[in-house]
Amino acid sequence: MTAPRHHLVVGAGTAGLSAVEAIRRTCPGDAVTIVSAEPDPPYSPTVLPHLLAGRIDASRIALRPESFFARDRCQLRLGAEVTGLDAERRQARLADGATLAWDTLLLASGSEALRPELANPHGVEMLGFTRLADLRALRARLGDRTRVAILGAGLIGMELAEALVHVGPGLRVTVVEQERQVLPRSFDAELAGGIAALFESRGVTLRLGRRATALERAGGAVALTLSDGSVELVDLVVACVGVRPRAGFLAGSGLAMGRGVLVDRRMATNLPGVYAAGDVAEGPSADGTPGVHPVLPTAAGQGRVAGSNMAGRDAEHEGWLPANVFNFFGRVAMTVGATESMKRARPAGASTLPHPPGQGKFLRILRPVTLEAERNRNTTTMPGCIYLASSSVAEIMKDISGSPVFLRGVGTQILTASISCRQEKSVEAWMRPFFTNFAN
Ligand SMILES: Cc1cc2nc3c(=O)[nH]c(=O)nc-3n(C[C@H](O)[C@H](O)[C@H](O)COP(=O)(O)OP(=O)(O)OC[C@H]3O[C@@H](n4cnc5c(N)ncnc54)[C@H](O)[C@@H]3O)c2cc1C
Repeated sequence: MTAPRHHLVVGAGTAGLSAVEAIRRTCPGDAVTIVSAEPDPPYSPTVLPHLLAGRIDASRIALRPESFFARDRCQLRLGAEVTGLDAERRQARLADGATLAWDTLLLASGSEALRPELANPHGVEMLGFTRLADLRALRARLGDRTRVAILGAGLIGMELAEALVHVGPGLRVTVVEQERQVLPRSFDAELAGGIAALFESRGVTLRLGRRATALERAGGAVALTLSDGSVELVDLVVACVGVRPRAGFLAGSGLAMGRGVLVDRRMATNLPGVYAAGDVAEGPSADGTPGVHPVLPTAAGQGRVAGSNMAGRDAEHEGWLPANVFNFFGRVAMTVGATESMKRARPAGASTLPHPPGQGKFLRILRPVTLEAERNRNTTTMPGCIYLASSSVAEIMKDISGSPVFLRGVGTQILTASISCRQEKSVEAWMRPFFTNFAN
């Protein structure tokens, strides 16, 4: 029997708390300290659009009940920001000068918003939409007739736009996107066009195929200049141009870094006893290619694996597959796999699921999925992207029940022999965690 150990978890989000659960299952006598830079009880950023739209109440967003933390040998420290690590001494430094020692350490600090590069000579405020503090700032500035410009039509920007439509009919919402379509990393142009039309029918103005280049004060308003020379007069600007791993505080720690903290399938970093999971981690995808995959089910899965290994087990993450679910105006859109536009949108040199030119077809499967999937079972194509729009999650689950994601065969490197049998999963199995998390 091993002596009880102390596990330090940096980040009280989905990855961190999934790890704590796994540690408890295996070693209930071990001590755990969870630190969060924020003052709020642990929550998931996925609630932000729902809070803004009034679909849920702030009293219902806690990721775990208080009883989860009120245990012997468990300490939750809120408002405690880790500013550095001393890997040799196995100590984390906090912003207030205190130190915390660890036997094992999990880095689960999530991601932070990217800021667009544009001229801003007057220092016009640009809000974000990734943390509760952002939501509070946004709410404090919203009036009945506020004109809001959202920079970026990715999932976060579009979720924000949808939520603002629900906030009030007097708001004027404009979304600016440099690609020619909305949701360029998730859906192909044709399908994204359908989503865009729905947003426009609800009063959202889309300015696609142009970048925001400058912000200036114009009386009481803000003049937002776009790359085509046009100017939008707005009251508020919210930047939703992407996220990156929140890893600045790890500089000089000796951790191997890529875009995020590099981890293997066990979620182990290059430093002994140090693990990373969730948005901050750069771990293997389903085909082994490393990458950052900032979505909730990946954070939960990686956190579970990291926690098991911190507690002395030997668990491996199956790897992530690009996948997401987008709820908008009572509909659900779903994507699995890499789309052509996702590949284009990735910066050169960034890790990606490899798809050599001319190989790999990306099928859009509209209902009935099962029939389409069956038809392709014996071909060389991989349904790399799946899209459904439907009125209910239950309907989608019925449709995709039993439909295979072809992770074997030929056509792309993801289909090579390096994919072991455990990677053969149905679409339903890949997507279940997304629907479990977001069914509404
Ligand atoms: C608006 C919005 C909508 C989203 N919608 C979806 C969706 O529909 N589907 C989906 O799959 N994903 C969605 N995501 C992404 C999803 O929220 C993240 O992938 C997931 O929350 C990542 O979990 P995590 O545990 O890695 O990080 P987080 O949940 O972000 O937790 C990070 C934790 O680390 C703490 N922290 C950070 N730095 C430090 C430090 N230096 N010291 C101490 N603590 C620190 C933070 O305070 C926080 O407690 C959405 C994200 C946003 C912002």
